[in-house]
Amino acid sequence: MARTKIKDILQQEATDYKVTVKGWVRSFRNNQFIALNDGSCMNNLQVVIDLNTNEELLRAITPGASLSVEGTVVASQGKGQKVEVKAEKVELLGACDPEKYPLQLKNKPSLEYLREIAHLRFRTNTFGAVFRVRHTLAYAIHKFYNDNGFVYLHTPIVTASDAEGAGEMFRVTTLPFDNPPRMEDGKIDFKEDFFGKATNLTVSGQLEAELGAMAFGEVYTFGPTFRAENSNTTRHLAEFWMIEPEVAFNDLTDNMDLAERFIQYIIRYALEHNREDLEFLAQRLVDEEKQKPQQERSEMGLIEKLQFVLDNKFERITYTEGVEILINSPAYKKKKFQYEVKWGIDLQSEHERYLVEKHFKKPVIVTDYPKDIKAFYMRQNEDGKTVAAMDILAPGIGEIVGGSQREERLDKLMQRMEEMHIPAEEMEWYLDTRRFGTVPHAGFGLGFERIVQFVTGMGNIRDVIPFPRTPKNAEF
Ligand code: ATP
Ligand code: MN
Repeated sequence: MARTKIKDILQQEATDYKVTVKGWVRSFRNNQFIALNDGSCMNNLQVVIDLNTNEELLRAITPGASLSVEGTVVASQGKGQKVEVKAEKVELLGACDPEKYPLQLKNKPSLEYLREIAHLRFRTNTFGAVFRVRHTLAYAIHKFYNDNGFVYLHTPIVTASDAEGAGEMFRVTTLPFDNPPRMEDGKIDFKEDFFGKATNLTVSGQLEAELGAMAFGEVYTFGPTFRAENSNTTRHLAEFWMIEPEVAFNDLTDNMDLAERFIQYIIRYALEHNREDLEFLAQRLVDEEKQKPQQERSEMGLIEKLQFVLDNKFERITYTEGVEILINSPAYKKKKFQYEVKWGIDLQSEHERYLVEKHFKKPVIVTDYPKDIKAFYMRQNEDGKTVAAMDILAPGIGEIVGGSQREERLDKLMQRMEEMHIPAEEMEWYLDTRRFGTVPHAGFGLGFERIVQFVTGMGNIRDVIPFPRTPKNAEF
């Protein structure tokens, strides 16, 4: 008989029909009641087995073991579930030694411990919920852009342009390390390398996405990006996924509107499709918060917080206004900030969090940053000092989106590249967009793991990507 998913059985609540279910044992009590999970949903299916089941099989039904069960769906006698399966045939697919099964050895394994056994952590309730939500968000992202007429553009992962993040990129090479070919001046000769030039893993698909936007009007990328920055924080990975829409004819306000509508859409989608998972994660957060001192606890529960983001417009302020708010804040006067605040600085995480969590208590879009702390391609404002940039800051996380209106004027763009020592010869393909039918356009990058963190309430970015890549860590 074809396998029925546990989710379908529990959702339907119908009874008196035969099923085959397959999954992994979560618990087994009184030699009779198996809690079976197949990953299709948070909840387990209760399987009631015959009291005359042979001894050998009974002993093998331990947490982690995999089973195939044929039986009948019946109304449940017990509390906690409406239906259960009365087993007629139980087959052990794979045993699981309880003396060795890592998930069985610790009573309530910590997130840190589970990170060390990331190959097994999907089987816990927490990570089951996190990765089902991650999936839903990924799906909702494609759905949003598809439904809005965007073309999904696959931008390259190996790239020769290092205009954006020189120094933080991972080199891609097939040259021998012990004896690379050298030029007369002793420098490594990358003409001999696989691609005939030095190449790296991409830090962003934006520049290529802009080329697509100049033909399709609206494109987006959704792919892995890599940064070799040595920052061991709860918000940085060396390998992470980014969504980058790029839209012809959009200005900065359109860009903000798109980002806000997009973020609200995917959050709403997750609330509608992963309610059970999110309620579980909300409860997990409540339990975790109980360990914290009162003043550090958040005022809102997870679901409330998400609903709040749907019901309220994001605050929009300029960088200059943000700096003024910080300088006039009680925190500044009491010297609570570790880093200096003055016009021209890059906002530190503590500043961003103050604006979002203490001052506005909602997501904030900060625009018009000083040009000296932003990338060369951002559109220069009339004041000569700022650019049409926008960052979106979220409570508990900080920056989740970085974007801008792009500089579409060839002369201004080239002048800025020169000032920033970016060699134009290597960027001719990019500059061509400004030579052949240039138009105003704008886009942004949303860090996928940061939004997954926000939606699931997970505090550490390592817990929202299946196999995190961070400094000194590339296990599995
Ligand atoms: P941050 O200031 O947080 O380091 P950034 O300014 O370097 O971020 P951008 O270059 O603007 O980030 O990248 C766009 C988005 O990608 C960011 O808003 C963030 O959501 C995400 N992001 C950037 N770096 C990382 C990283 N190392 N790990 C995970 N997500 C990241
Ligand atoms: Mn940024």
